[in-house]
Amino acid sequence: MNEIIKQKAKIEFLKLLWMFKLPLLILAIILGFLLIVGITLLPALFMNPEMDESAPILPEGGIGGKAIVSPEVRRYEPLIRKYAEKYGVKGYTELLLAKMQQESGGRGGDPMQASESLGLPPNTITNPAVSIEAGVRYFSQGLKKAEGDIYLTIQAFNFGTGFIDYALERGGYSKEVAAAFSQMKAKELGWSRYGDINYVDNVLRYFEGSLEISPGSPNSYGFIKPIQAEITSRFGVRFDPFTGVPMNHYGVDFGCKGQPLPIYAARNGKIQRAGWQNPGNHNEGFGQRIYIDHGGGLVTVYAHLAEIFVQPGQTVQTGQKIGTCGTTGSSTGEHLHLELHENGRKVNPEGRIF
Ligand SMILES: [Zn+2]
Repeated sequence: MNEIIKQKAKIEFLKLLWMFKLPLLILAIILGFLLIVGITLLPALFMNPEMDESAPILPEGGIGGKAIVSPEVRRYEPLIRKYAEKYGVKGYTELLLAKMQQESGGRGGDPMQASESLGLPPNTITNPAVSIEAGVRYFSQGLKKAEGDIYLTIQAFNFGTGFIDYALERGGYSKEVAAAFSQMKAKELGWSRYGDINYVDNVLRYFEGSLEISPGSPNSYGFIKPIQAEITSRFGVRFDPFTGVPMNHYGVDFGCKGQPLPIYAARNGKIQRAGWQNPGNHNEGFGQRIYIDHGGGLVTVYAHLAEIFVQPGQTVQTGQKIGTCGTTGSSTGEHLHLELHENGRKVNPEGRIF
């Protein structure tokens, strides 16, 4: 008896299965497809996050120039340098000295006038080391937020970091933007005036030299970082920006959105190629690009450039300005695509060049 019921149930089940054969087949296909996609995409997800937000990289080189400051300010140089190193802005030590000259002339317990940056009333800080650390940290945070715009960072020390967003939305720092912000804030707060709209000029009175960011000193392989910008995409598997399909990225990308940043030769060498990859189609491949042969089988490639300042056959020195960052060729936005070739093989520039 039991056996018969079991048999019947089995037959009923098979009938049911047959009735729904089409939807079941479709379901199986979908599940199979998802499984394949998952297996393909999973490693890409782990290997190459498009944006590394964990570690913002600040320009390592800093600016060339020297602060013309009083002995009272100059005596704080070692302390400023110490905190500048701690907060990744050691290349800006001289500029920070000029700022201190403007803020306090090196006098008092809060020579960086940093109390307000900690949300305290002015001159609350009484320990110069605390003042310097707070001031340098504030500068470092401002520089990151201002995307490396030094003028904007300096003015934000006086106006507060709210000015950075305001200015970036209006194309970056200018005296007109600073004046407009000052007026807006004064009105908002019911004050007769807000901040010092000439703050940048006032600080730069004590600074001699170029505010242009210069490359740092060579690493143990003799390379310098060819651009003072943040990495937006690393070497390895990533999703193609056009098709979304995972594929190999044979270089490292540095973002330069809204900034035609200078690009420096990563090392001494001879220009192998310079110009359009395809003069007939500026939207193709690397667009305007430079290849530098460094000897010993090493070649560096700089792609998607807005401008090029060198010619094939020319020799270049480490740190020489060779072009500016752009978005020529097959590119979705302003960035430098940097490659390192070793004996004709594309290798990861990270860990070697920078
Ligand atoms: Zn790239």
